Amino acid sequence: MSQSLVLQLQQLRQQLEQYSYQYYVLDQPTVPDSEYDRLFQQLQRIEAEHPELISSTSPTQRVGAKPLAKFSQVQHQIPMLSLDNAFDDESFFAFTKRIADSLDSSAEFSFCSEPKLDGLAVSIRYENGELVQAATRGDGSTGENITTNVKTIRAIPLRLQGDVPEVLEVRGEVFMPLAGFNAMNDAAAKAGQKIFANPRNAAAGSLRQLDAKITAQRPLMFYAYGIGEVIDSNKKLATDSHYQQLMQLKQWGMPICPEVRQVKGSQAALDYYQHIMQQRDSLAYEIDGVVIKVDSLAQQQALGFVARAPRWAVAFKFPAQEMLTKLLAVEFQV
Ligand code: NAD
Repeated sequence: MSQSLVLQLQQLRQQLEQYSYQYYVLDQPTVPDSEYDRLFQQLQRIEAEHPELISSTSPTQRVGAKPLAKFSQVQHQIPMLSLDNAFDDESFFAFTKRIADSLDSSAEFSFCSEPKLDGLAVSIRYENGELVQAATRGDGSTGENITTNVKTIRAIPLRLQGDVPEVLEVRGEVFMPLAGFNAMNDAAAKAGQKIFANPRNAAAGSLRQLDAKITAQRPLMFYAYGIGEVIDSNKKLATDSHYQQLMQLKQWGMPICPEVRQVKGSQAALDYYQHIMQQRDSLAYEIDGVVIKVDSLAQQQALGFVARAPRWAVAFKFPAQEMLTKLLAVEFQV
């Protein structure tokens, strides 16, 4: 093994760790996502060519970053994972081929296709229909307790409607719609205060405030996209379809993105990607791609997980819009 390759790996990992800390823990990214993604892919490529050099602490094996000490911690009974990425048609078809090979199936798959919302993942726990806890993803197994802050988001029901499971963890994205983001930044600029770099950064900075009164003033929104722990002795959530699960969550009062669709086959999923990319500029919120998920829960379970992401879903990202120079010119606010 060449010494220079080991050194290169070490430098890449250190650089990515530093960027992750700035992004997830401080809410103060210093490079655009496209630059982070480029280095991450480079690391993935080297590790794929030299599997003996993969270590459990490599950024490719981990989700997010450790939670900030100023919040109390929440252990996720079901880990909150990240997503594998596809950046072009070829890598998307490689994903569909992988799942077909793994399930040994030549039939067309049903997919639940969803916009990839650019905010931050939260898990909201309901016990007997009542919101009792909310947490950030953190490093996937331990998140930050942000219950008080989440309760200030009006779109999130404090009590679910109807006949619900005893325990239901709803997972989804807290984000800042563009209209609210622009109005907030305009007001900040007029008052000579710092502005937020982008809606994702604004959502994360607003949600992870120790003073929930500040969060309450921020125009935050939430869409649910999945579930975590469920205790459901009377089978209220009995369906084999991820899409139907989301529709059930909607009936219980959770907001679901109106662009979510159930589609059949890889080509239909690709058409969905193109369609949402065309819609992108007219949407009320920022997205950075679409998420294509195998719809059948039984198939999801059979496919399982790798270190940091499920095998049954892929984040199909749009081409990068942002430029390093543009981003570095903007001042960030925590
Ligand atoms: P990710 O954001 O690429 O994908 C996983 C996340 O997607 C989930 O945790 C969830 O929050 C979100 N999501 C949105 N819509 C969803 C849907 N419909 N269904 C399921 N999940 C949905 O992964 P990540 O691990 O959070 O981080 C990688 C991203 O963060 C990359 O875009 C990377 O560029 C960026 N990043 C940037 C920096 C930087 O310094 N600029 C540092 C670290 C990470």
